[in-house]
Amino acid sequence: MVYLYLLATLLFVFGIKKLTSVKTCQKGNRLSEIGMLVAVVATALIETNIGWPVVLAGLLVGAGVGATIAKRTPTTQMPELVAALNGFGGLSSALVAMGSLLIDPVLKDPSKALGDTTLINAISTPATILIGMVTLTGSFVAYFKLSGKKLSHPLAGMQRHYLHAGLALAAIGCAAWMVITSNHTAMTFAVILLALVAAVLGVFLVMPIGGADMPVVVSLLNSYSGIAGAAAGFVIQNPLLIVVGALVGTSGLILTQIMCKAMNRSLGNVLLGGMGEETVAKDAKDYKNIKSAGAEEVAMLLDGAGSVVFVPGYGLAVAQAQHVVRELADLLQKRGCNVRYAIHPVAGRMPGHMNVLLAESDVPYDQLWEMDRINGDFKNTDVVIVVGANDVVNPAARLPTGPIAGMPILDVDQARTVVVIKRSLAPGYAGIKNPLFEAENTLMVFLDAKEALEAMVKEVKELK
Ligand code: NDP
Repeated sequence: MVYLYLLATLLFVFGIKKLTSVKTCQKGNRLSEIGMLVAVVATALIETNIGWPVVLAGLLVGAGVGATIAKRTPTTQMPELVAALNGFGGLSSALVAMGSLLIDPVLKDPSKALGDTTLINAISTPATILIGMVTLTGSFVAYFKLSGKKLSHPLAGMQRHYLHAGLALAAIGCAAWMVITSNHTAMTFAVILLALVAAVLGVFLVMPIGGADMPVVVSLLNSYSGIAGAAAGFVIQNPLLIVVGALVGTSGLILTQIMCKAMNRSLGNVLLGGMGEETVAKDAKDYKNIKSAGAEEVAMLLDGAGSVVFVPGYGLAVAQAQHVVRELADLLQKRGCNVRYAIHPVAGRMPGHMNVLLAESDVPYDQLWEMDRINGDFKNTDVVIVVGANDVVNPAARLPTGPIAGMPILDVDQARTVVVIKRSLAPGYAGIKNPLFEAENTLMVFLDAKEALEAMVKEVKELK
């Protein structure tokens, strides 16, 4: 039966490997799904005390709830769904650790403390509760932030750090108390207190993070949920849970590093949890010399263009314009134009968001160009069409200060003409003004992305 654990592990490893490329990611998902099924069946066969009715009920209820939520969630809300799932992962690990205390044979003896069990148990049980609860509440704060709710930290500057340090120390104190006390009522009290303090810490750690820094947080919380899972694996001595938790934890950390690089932030900053305060700049809607254009004018520009680059952003997801952007791209290609899509690593609201959207409309993979590869080529591009993107093309990132200072951007302002499709002059997620909109070579199309692109398709079709 242990070979089934090995099989599940291999399926997870190869599944994750395949997730690293747009071409193979769907296969990667399938492999991981099969891996999860094998893991559940293997656990039921090995841990025979669970009983098949419970396993089957869990499988049916879990799969049913998961499938219903996934089907009902529009792609624009996928980031929130991912954040919520991270949170539930943390909660389940914490519950496993708490539940294990109830059935621990050593603890059945009223004179024994958690510290009298194994060292691994004494460390992993409080660690699981702590990390699991921080993940739960941190993820739900991220969930609300991603759905547009403004949540600000009550304290600022050093006071905030003192509060976080105080809560972390209190959590460590509760953990120590929980391990050394042999009074089981006191232990129960310490467990509840630890869970509560960790929950409050999770809220306060994520609260001050806003603006452009959320991608780092979402991937870090994903990693925390894996670490909590691995720690829970030590608690119940399940090797598969340890391995899978470690896989999620490390792949989440690698993703965090990729996101840090994309945002030009250090991981140290992220771990301290005090970056990118959420504010909307006062001048975010103050623009001079805005030139607006309609679909007809854009079609004339496209008529003479030899190269066009589409830059998708969060607005493309909101408008669900992924199919019509492909239609316009295909039309231009048929007219002999070189068409590409420039993908910024943090465009949208979750890692890989734009790739997922464009894969839905079967955009050929060789047309998807990552930021580093395409940036040097914008100066040779005739027309860039920015579809609902804002922060990822904001030249303010090149300034020494500001919420997105230092973040690498797509250098679209170097193209001959830039067409920006968005509904208004409203700021993007970072809440700041975008000087690209008032640049000499920029034309603004103030429409919903789908509507604008449909109008452009119509106009291009009418070109001779
Ligand atoms: P932004 O959030 O910066 O801008 C999106 C723009 O889309 C808005 O300015 C909005 O303007 C426009 N828009 C919204 N709806 C529509 C619509 N229906 N039609 C046309 N335009 C629309 O998006 P970017 O993709 O440029 O940048 C992503 C931001 O999100 C970054 O700051 C990133 O750090 C952050 N983030 C990214 C995560 C990730 O993992 N990728 C996770 C969390 C945050 P208007 O209202 O005027 O139409």
